[in-house]
Amino acid sequence: MTKTGAPSAVEGGKSESRSLRGTIAESLASDAARFSDRDRSLLKFHGIFEGGDRDKSRRLMVRVRVPAGRITPGQYLGLDDLAGSYGDGSLRVTSRQGLQFHGVAKGNLKLLVADINHGLLSTFGTGGDVVRNVMANPVPIKDSVHARIHDDALRLSRLFRPRSYAYHDLWLGDEKQYAGTVDRREIEPVYGQSYLPSKFKIALATPDDNTVDVLANDLGIIALFEEERLIGYNFALGGGLGFRPDRPKTFPFLAIPTCFIEPDDLLPAAEAVVRLHREHGDRNNRDRARLKYFIAEHGVAAAKRFLEECLGHPLADPVPQPVMEVPDLMGWHAQGDGHWFLGIPLPAGRIADSETIRLRTGLRAVIQKYWPTLVLTPDQDILLCDLPAHKRAAVEADLRRFGVQLAEDLIPLERWSLACPALRSCDLALAEAECVQPAILNAIAEVMAGYGLVKDRISVRISGCSNGCVRPYLGDIGLVGCALGCYRVYVGGDTRGTRLNSLLRDRVALADIAGVLEPLFALYAAEREPMESFGDFCHRVGIERLLSVV
Ligand code: SF4
Repeated sequence: MTKTGAPSAVEGGKSESRSLRGTIAESLASDAARFSDRDRSLLKFHGIFEGGDRDKSRRLMVRVRVPAGRITPGQYLGLDDLAGSYGDGSLRVTSRQGLQFHGVAKGNLKLLVADINHGLLSTFGTGGDVVRNVMANPVPIKDSVHARIHDDALRLSRLFRPRSYAYHDLWLGDEKQYAGTVDRREIEPVYGQSYLPSKFKIALATPDDNTVDVLANDLGIIALFEEERLIGYNFALGGGLGFRPDRPKTFPFLAIPTCFIEPDDLLPAAEAVVRLHREHGDRNNRDRARLKYFIAEHGVAAAKRFLEECLGHPLADPVPQPVMEVPDLMGWHAQGDGHWFLGIPLPAGRIADSETIRLRTGLRAVIQKYWPTLVLTPDQDILLCDLPAHKRAAVEADLRRFGVQLAEDLIPLERWSLACPALRSCDLALAEAECVQPAILNAIAEVMAGYGLVKDRISVRISGCSNGCVRPYLGDIGLVGCALGCYRVYVGGDTRGTRLNSLLRDRVALADIAGVLEPLFALYAAEREPMESFGDFCHRVGIERLLSVV
């Protein structure tokens, strides 16, 4: 199973980086506007990304690790301050429950990263070839099930935190202390000197809440309970959506249930899966470096054998589990402890003020006043938690004073839509996503209204490129940028995050997207079965029939 051939250039950059230092310190001290290619690659491990260059300002994006999306009100307010001081005045909730700063000047990087750490948060490991922010079921219900999921996510996050002191030296201390050396304590017990062949994503879900789209992850962990007693975890291996349409050996793939893990084995079993990727991932061809290609090529039986060798005992097959669901978390919900949480929809995760909607200011005011615990959701929204019942009306009134839109102000199409920042701050983007989301949704909503479908829950996920950061291949409708102003249109995902959609049309101009979908809405309105979702309908009738009407 070992790959032959020369390791890719990125591999050399990692192993020669002196534990992720490279020449970042020198670049920071210089007047150069840009970092070298090697340092740009290493900076991703530190959570720093040289973004899109639309405005030629060479501004950077900085990503904060927020395991399971849980953040205190004090931490949020600190980050909000920093967005004003060092960023473009906005914060952005990511589709992996993290937070991003955009528009950061190179000269402010050290101050920003240091201040983020003063708030007991970190940017380390939010990019690069390591385990990324660990996602988990966001619902803040106060019972032992949700407490366990949250605790598991934190333990996994700690286990896979990179151990290099480079982060501390570069951003929080004196980089000269270790210059030219690799301290022995920096040996990475899980990652090794070359780290992983590619990024590695982990998410935890329960069957009744698959908000995380667990099967889109390299390691999808489905926790199974009898009442409130944890019986163990189904491990699904090899999920990953990003691919290159021009390279036939790459493809989106959903994780395959591989084995059942006893509660006490969670951490060693997760570590064994990461070791499988480390040892058998393709380091010669980055296009095929994700775990999914090992699983597709060698099958789950080979993966299971590897895990059994690591753990030293046989593993059971995955156990039957209920059908997954994705609940609607927007609006008010009881937490089970007498308190309530309020789900507030954020447009493409962006927390910013506009002339009419002062979302950032309004959220800030409400968080200062009511001090709610916060949860960032995988759908790029935010939950204000632990609010007493008698404060609900006041919280809503305060938000409305700033023009903040609540769930009931939006149609389902807007509530369930995701979009990545694309050209605004990502140098991989081929087309706009966040910036064109309102126009696309308005056009689609207008067409849907003509068929009486405007109240239907239909998700439209828009990505600026085929990497698919907002999981477009799982939406009822996925729009994937392929050139400026052009999109690949996919249909037929389900509302549970358990089925890939299919390509309907390539290279559709932005202005034509709603028109391409209209015949499908007409067919859906005429032939749908009771309670059948749009994605399920498209899947049932099949892509051939759909193609015959567009
Ligand atoms: Fe960038 Fe592509 Fe990810 Fe969008 S999907 S954030 S354009 S890499």
